[in-house]
Amino acid sequence: MPDAKHDHGSRSIATRTVHHPVASPTSYPVATPLYQTSTFRVADAATIARYAEQTQPQAYYTRWGNPTIEVLEKVLADLEGGQKCLALASGMAAVTTTLLGLLRPGDHVVAGSSLYTATTEFLSSDLAELGISVDFVDPTDPEAFARAVRKNTRMFYVETPTNPTLQLTDLAAVCRIADETGNLAVVDNTFASPYNQTPLALGADVVIHSVTKYLSGHTDVIGGCLVTDAETAEQLWHQRTMLGGCIDPFAAWLVLRGVKTLAVRMQRHNDNALAVAEALRSHPAVSRVLYPGLASHPQYELAQRQMSGFGGMIAFELAGGRAAGVKLVESTRLVVLAVSLGGVETLIEHPASMSHAPLSDEQLRRAGIPPGLIRLSVGIEDPDDLIADLWQALDRLS
Ligand SMILES: *Cc1c(COP(=O)(O)O)cnc(C)c1O
Repeated sequence: MPDAKHDHGSRSIATRTVHHPVASPTSYPVATPLYQTSTFRVADAATIARYAEQTQPQAYYTRWGNPTIEVLEKVLADLEGGQKCLALASGMAAVTTTLLGLLRPGDHVVAGSSLYTATTEFLSSDLAELGISVDFVDPTDPEAFARAVRKNTRMFYVETPTNPTLQLTDLAAVCRIADETGNLAVVDNTFASPYNQTPLALGADVVIHSVTKYLSGHTDVIGGCLVTDAETAEQLWHQRTMLGGCIDPFAAWLVLRGVKTLAVRMQRHNDNALAVAEALRSHPAVSRVLYPGLASHPQYELAQRQMSGFGGMIAFELAGGRAAGVKLVESTRLVVLAVSLGGVETLIEHPASMSHAPLSDEQLRRAGIPPGLIRLSVGIEDPDDLIADLWQALDRLS
């Protein structure tokens, strides 16, 4: 490596303010250093020529790769049990890079009917403009995926548990059908996190995350990732480099810090959500509670089989419908009214008046979202404080 010549004496202030000494690698930091740099000093022109031909060079240009980002990618690949990870600027960058990288005009996708709203929109409008068609099927029925396969089907795309109704897709069954029919199985694992569920072990080809959520966990960063085999990763690395959705090194560093506590946070999210779900069942204003860890969940048996914990996401229905939903989310004091999920703070959302506001009650019913449905992302606070706050807000509905 060429020396960053630091010759104070003879150069002017305009030069010395720009050229700093480069930290030499003689110390061994316990935390991963932040390489907040867009480009890297190289020894000679031939090195640049070699890097420009390589997949994922780590010291060439940060859109290609970066040492901080490389550490994050190794950690996330390991957590999901995959060969390779690509970190991206957001969950949606991971979704769109995967879809654009693996699909061609004329291809067909079979997707679960309950997906993150931007993913649904990208699949149904943006991809349609590129000549890629999609059929949305009941995510709880593996046979529905088999029935929707056409000659030009190339991919199955699912999320489980689904947003906001917490339905489950039988990943082993759907991935087996994908394999038998020559299709790729892509799974957005954001809601479960790799602590509770690892889709690659059940036969998925690509796993996607919004690392904005549980993986970073502290509500302070936007990021995404995909985990897959080495060959698919190389193809998607080219797509990421062209579309430009690389993660920023500081965002990668924040995710690396957040992920260190994933196991303790997820254990607490799992415990807290079960306690809150059980408590909500006994309030008279609540007509139904949906949580995969409750024996009353219609797919409880599948949840036990496919997940090792059930996460922090709960949905519950208010007997008072849409008006009660608005009143409840505006009546909590500790629980925060905000979109997003997976952070240490408990967040509440009313899909009918917030994320799904353009839909009428009838359209909501068709989408399987009751007007009085509330979505709760249970954080890591003391569960008794959470239950007390939800109780005082629910009591105001009567
Ligand atoms: C939030 C979310 C996304 C999008 O992630 P961003 O980081 O906001 O781009 C995708 N899928 C699921 C399931 C999500 O919850």
